[in-house]
Amino acid sequence: MAIEFFNDGTHRCVRFDDLTDPEDVQANQFLIIHGEKGMLLDPGGTKLYSKLVAEVSKYIPLQKLEYLFLSHQDPDVGAGLNGYLLITDAKICVPQVWERFIPHFSTKSFAKDRVMVIPDRGMRLKLDGAEIVLLPAHFLHSPGNIQVYDTVSKTLFSGDLGASLLPAENAYPIVKDFDAHIKYMLGFHQRYLASGQVCQRWAAMARQLDIERIVPQHGAMFEGKAMVKQFIDWIAQLKCGVDLLDEKDWYQIPQ
Ligand code: FE
Repeated sequence: MAIEFFNDGTHRCVRFDDLTDPEDVQANQFLIIHGEKGMLLDPGGTKLYSKLVAEVSKYIPLQKLEYLFLSHQDPDVGAGLNGYLLITDAKICVPQVWERFIPHFSTKSFAKDRVMVIPDRGMRLKLDGAEIVLLPAHFLHSPGNIQVYDTVSKTLFSGDLGASLLPAENAYPIVKDFDAHIKYMLGFHQRYLASGQVCQRWAAMARQLDIERIVPQHGAMFEGKAMVKQFIDWIAQLKCGVDLLDEKDWYQIPQ
């Protein structure tokens, strides 16, 4: 179901959460519209393409998409990119360290002159006058990872950070009970994020932003300042990735 979680008449934010096949990892795609222009975030793979195009068209003509944003290199983020290059004139926003890998997702002639490289320190861009901040979130999980902070709706699009893998029979769009929600996030965060040090540095940056909601690429979103604070506090103390090497003791030659 598409959820329009912000609309002030000029600015709209929409989440598409039910387009992935049931056997695939559930993924959310996002559309930000300001005035006449749109920005599509992490549009996903080829299996989603025709479904997402149909959904997005209900909100904005595809020719009005100005940016296609890829937070990192994963297939569920941008494997379907080539299709969007064909039917839109949008610029592809991609983290610096992944720029050279984009041709693997696209026909080179389509991507030519349309790639907007996001530097490691992030940047700001304008969507028909609205300011969008592209925030560094490296190693969370990808070595070159960028998040989107929308200054109008005060939404942080956090990519894989805050992702939850919810059971199909109990999938909910918005987190109501943070403590009960942790079990759906913990395994993914421990295994995929680089380290607690990275999480702490990200949390220190995030605390400087005025955030109304955090919306991850997988699972439920965190709505309201109290829930946002709970998430940031949780991630700031998390032990993950290389912090758990002693416990995992992986580096043994298999017998
Ligand atoms: Fe990912």
